[in-house]
Order: sequence, then C-alpha cells, then structure tokens
Amino acid sequence: MDAKPYRIENDQAFKLTDFKTRDKGGLSKGPDVREMLKGNIRQLAALQNKLYAHNKYGVLIILQAMDAAGKDSAIKHICSGLNPQGVVVTPFKQPSTEELDHDFLWRSHQHLPERGNIAIFNRSYYEDVLVVKVHDLLLDQNMPAELVDKHIWENRYRQIRDYERYMHENGIQVIKFFLHISKDKQAKRFLDRIDNPDKNWKFSAADLRERQFWGQYQQAYEEMIRQTATRHAPWYIIPSDHKWYARLLISDIIVRQIGYLPLEYPNLSDQEKSKLKDYRLQLEGELQDERPDS
Ligand code: AMP
Ligand code: MG
Repeated sequence: MDAKPYRIENDQAFKLTDFKTRDKGGLSKGPDVREMLKGNIRQLAALQNKLYAHNKYGVLIILQAMDAAGKDSAIKHICSGLNPQGVVVTPFKQPSTEELDHDFLWRSHQHLPERGNIAIFNRSYYEDVLVVKVHDLLLDQNMPAELVDKHIWENRYRQIRDYERYMHENGIQVIKFFLHISKDKQAKRFLDRIDNPDKNWKFSAADLRERQFWGQYQQAYEEMIRQTATRHAPWYIIPSDHKWYARLLISDIIVRQIGYLPLEYPNLSDQEKSKLKDYRLQLEGELQDERPDS
C-alpha cells in the first residue's frame, strides 16, 4: 500500500476538503483484505518484540477524530496481536481539576512511552487546540488572562511542534492519525448506536451537541494539521468512512514506520557468549544428577 498520498508534512496550503472520506485505495472488503490486515498485525507483533528487546526507542501513536470515526475499533485491531506488556493505551477525556492545575502538556508527559514500548493516545494534547479552541475554554481552564491574546493558538502549535521535536530527539517515534469521516457517516453511526441495544451505551447527547460544531471542528483540524505536520512527526489523513480500510491503512503505516527504526536484538559480548558453553555443560550435568537410578 502506498501511504504517501495520505501523509502530510510542512504543508501550509493543506486543505481537508481535498481529502476524501470514502477512499478505499482501489480495494474492496473481503477475504483478501482480511488476510492483509492479519499479515500487518503479525508483522507488528514481530516488530514490537524487537522494539522491546532493543529497549532504546519508544513509539507514540496518536489518534484524533470526530466522534464515531472509529478510533476505538482501530485501537482494538492494532492491539490484537501485541504483547500487552509492551503497549499502553491512554484515553484523554475532559481534564480533571488536578490536570487543569497544570500546563496543558503535563498530563500527556507521564504517559509517553517507555523505551521499548508503544503508547497509544486515544485523543491527546491536540484536544487543547481543538475542543478548547472551538469552545473557547482557555480561561475556564485556568490560563492567565494576560497570556490569552491573539497569538495563543500560534503559540500552542509551536509548543506542540517543539514538544514533538523533543520526543524525536530523545528516541520517541511519533505517528499521528486523523480519522477523517463525513458528516453523513457520523449521523449513520450515531443512528446505529441508537438502534442497536448493544451499542446504546456508546451514544451520548453530548456527541450530538458537538456535531452542531462540525464546521468549526473541521477548520480547527485543518489549521492544526497545517501547523503541526512536520517531517519527523507527520500527520496521516485516514479516509474512515469504511472502517476496514482505515484499519488496514493505519496498521500498514505503523508497520512501515516502526520498520524504519534501526532496531536490533541485543548482542551478547564474546565473553558472555563463551560462557554459554559452560552454562550448558553445567545444566546438562545437573540433568544427569537428577536422573533416577535404574
Ligand atoms: P470520548 O473520547 O468520546 O470519551 O470523549 C472525551 C471527551 O473529552 C471529548 O468530548 C473531548 O473533546 C473531551 N476532551 C478531551 N481533552 C480535552 C481537553 N483538554 N479539554 C476539554 N475537553 C477535552
Ligand atoms: Mg465519545
């Protein structure tokens, strides 16, 4: 698969409307696609193993989207083949009182991946230039009024760029996905949540209210992507009206990006290797000692 058409870096002219939500990359749903996804999940598991053993790099996967775009199910699929010891998923909800007593990056920082681990953010510090911008929440969120001027968003985009450069320079690979859905598709998925008793719990009137701000959100996403898609932390715009395609593309991109890291299984020194022979002899001897008398 070619991820290039979906990859944005340093594009001041980026327009969300240039990207289709219904794209299927010329594929159609079926057994072939399921096999491709399974293959990616297998490759991801192997890469995770190496990442974990190497224990130098961390991987941060960020998922941002409008409600019902499929973040949760994408995460479920990505994680399905991973070793739970090496992956941590963190959802970012409305900030708590404690979180609001800190700068906006504080709550993310403690969830950045350990070396050798994969961290998945279901929403992220990007909410602080999305919902906070759309609903003008800065003052409610304890920012000093003197610092909330016309440069505030530019400043936050720069702070995020700097933060992601910091991660990159410290061995954290950042992979960012925007799951792009149409407004109609969102309505259909909300209806499905209403009609299907097993999905009722997923429906929230708050989501319906947010939907009224669709246009402002699209603008905020567009500006965010223009300002924060960099070479070392690009954004991927994932057509997400078809969930199966979104998952396939996301898994493909993650495999490729982790695959670029110079990962190696740790090598034993010659001295340690030469000791292995002695250890083997010792263990074989112990096995013989324990053999019952015949
Ligand atoms: P969900 O992911 O559907 O459980 O919803 C989480 C909600 O928390 C969304 O409506 C987000 O917009 C909201 N949220 C996340 N981060 C922030 C933030 N920094 N400030 C305000 N609301 C937030
Ligand atoms: Mg929700």
